[in-house]
Amino acid sequence: MLSLERDVLLAPYSTFNIGGPADFFATVTTAAELIEALEYAADNSLKSFIFSGGSNLLIADRGFRGLVIRVASAAARISGRDIYADAGTPLGSVVQLAGAHGLAGIERLAGIPGSLGGAIRGNAGAFGAEMRDVVLSVKTYDRKARMLREFSAKQCAWGYRQSHFKSHPELVILSAQLRFEDGDSAELQRIAADTMAVREAKHPQAVRCAGSFFMNPDVLDEALRDEFALDTGKTPKDSRLPAGWLIDHVGLRGRRIGGAEISPHHPNYIVNTGTATAEQVVMLASLVKQRVRTELGIQLREEVQLVGF
Ligand SMILES: Cc1cc2nc3c(=O)[nH]c(=O)nc-3n(C[C@H](O)[C@H](O)[C@H](O)COP(=O)(O)OP(=O)(O)OC[C@H]3O[C@@H](n4cnc5c(N)ncnc54)[C@H](O)[C@@H]3O)c2cc1C
Repeated sequence: MLSLERDVLLAPYSTFNIGGPADFFATVTTAAELIEALEYAADNSLKSFIFSGGSNLLIADRGFRGLVIRVASAAARISGRDIYADAGTPLGSVVQLAGAHGLAGIERLAGIPGSLGGAIRGNAGAFGAEMRDVVLSVKTYDRKARMLREFSAKQCAWGYRQSHFKSHPELVILSAQLRFEDGDSAELQRIAADTMAVREAKHPQAVRCAGSFFMNPDVLDEALRDEFALDTGKTPKDSRLPAGWLIDHVGLRGRRIGGAEISPHHPNYIVNTGTATAEQVVMLASLVKQRVRTELGIQLREEVQLVGF
């Protein structure tokens, strides 16, 4: 049975810890409840926004006019080399479950916050692994057509931090079937633990932020690519250069507007130092985009989802 709350402050639900109130708010714990909430919104002409871990969001100071649905459905089970899991299952739990059962494929995604649904939508990735590596099929509810739809891996239109679900926001992910390779449980758990330690050493993970603020852009400028290689000792793996390196290049590491700061440790993280407003984060992000565009001729695009603007 759907339970609606009114005027719920969204900041505590976002890892940025920023954001005003939602007019209506519901936490759903099953796919059936999620569909019920979406139908309630449609029947009552309310705009709806769904989220789960809140680790890839910047929510406006004015909040959201409509119904915000927090997906907390978290049932997961193993069958052979497959895991069937609800969208709200924390990605970390899926990584742990896979590791404990000797299922290889996402151990290097250990430490990415948020839910399975959020990770599939954004094709979350780290250290050369991506969600696309293990997704076999995805069950969704199409809130425009008001029907269930299932997608095979091929139909997911994967790309860098991209999927069919991201370009079709009417599709709400309900659950997924993941297929793994055989692996050694102890070895997979060791890789996951090492991965988390490396992440923590690169940048403290428990900060108020939403991870990488911008996507890594395609950079064809050979001189800049050579400069990157010289500066970092790394050859770019593909056509992309790290947005953090570009932000550093234009001298914005550590720059602050109000309580919002370009992390001194990881320039692609915008951090809420405690009192940041969404407006200050947006102003800082605009400064970054403008400087990188003017000085390097590169257009950065947000990886973080803006809500209620
Ligand atoms: C410290 C830190 C480190 C991070 N490191 C990484 C990293 O290494 N790699 C990486 O890829 N990301 C990283 N992220 C970003 C983030 O963790 C991922 O994007 C994550 O997959 C988002 O999942 P979520 O449940 O928190 O999504 P939310 O923030 O809740 O939502 C993000 C978007 O996904 C949509 N969404 C959520 N659930 C569903 C669903 N069931 N169906 C349809 N749409 C849905 C929402 O509507 C919203 O548009 C990091 C974030 C933080 C804070």
